[in-house]
Amino acid sequence: MTFTPPPGADEAMRQHLVHAAEIARRTGVTKAAVSLWIARHRSLAELVITWVGKHNPVFWWPQVEAELQRLGLPAAQVGEPSCGARRTHDHITFVCVRPENHDGSHVDRRRRACWTGDEPATDLDGRPLLTGTNPPASADLRAFRRRR
Ligand SMILES: [Zn+2]
Repeated sequence: MTFTPPPGADEAMRQHLVHAAEIARRTGVTKAAVSLWIARHRSLAELVITWVGKHNPVFWWPQVEAELQRLGLPAAQVGEPSCGARRTHDHITFVCVRPENHDGSHVDRRRRACWTGDEPATDLDGRPLLTGTNPPASADLRAFRRRR
């Protein structure tokens, strides 16, 4: 007796079986970002259905999409391209994660900052960001050398 897949199974598999690069494409992030999510969130790693070779996990997209939404990843709506506007403050680069062509201020929820136009970035409650909390790497290196 041969196995007969249910009607529509081929189409469903083509649509929903995804590897990391496809998850990256559908969420508008890099493949490296997806690998990082999988490494950080056990709940995502547990969604791996099978492996293609040693390095290519395969997922079922509806499960991944639901789990990403639960985790708030990426902070923009899953599947929508995000704004990506950047603002640097005190050596930290903020990247707007709101949807493309959004209204109002740019928001980086992960780093808890927002900004409008050319105004300085603030925290999400509109308070000025602290400065001097994150010295450049070169200053770290000089301090390190002084300690030795
Ligand atoms: Zn924006």
